[in-house]
Amino acid sequence: MEQKKVEAGEDKAKRMRRAPKKKVCAFCVEKAEEIDYKDVAKLKRYITEKGKIIPRRTSGMCAAHQRELSVAIKRARIMGLLPFKAE
Ligand SMILES: [Zn+2]
Repeated sequence: MEQKKVEAGEDKAKRMRRAPKKKVCAFCVEKAEEIDYKDVAKLKRYITEKGKIIPRRTSGMCAAHQRELSVAIKRARIMGLLPFKAE
C-alpha cells in the first residue's frame, strides 16, 4: 500500500520532467539588429498578460537581444503603447 503510493509519485515526477526543447532566439533568426519599440505586435509576444517581460530562460532569447527587447518594451511603456502592469 505504502510502496504503491511512492511508485505513483515517482511516475508522476517522470512524466512532469520533459526534455528541454531547444530554444533559438527569435530575433537572431530574423537577424534583427535592433528592436523597434513601435512594433507593438511583436513586443506583445514577449510580455505576459500582466505586462511583465518574459524571462530569458523561458523565451530562449539571447542576452544581447533580451537586452534590446527590454529597452524596447520600456520605451513602448513610456510611449503608452504597452501597459506597465495589468489593471
Ligand atoms: Zn538574439
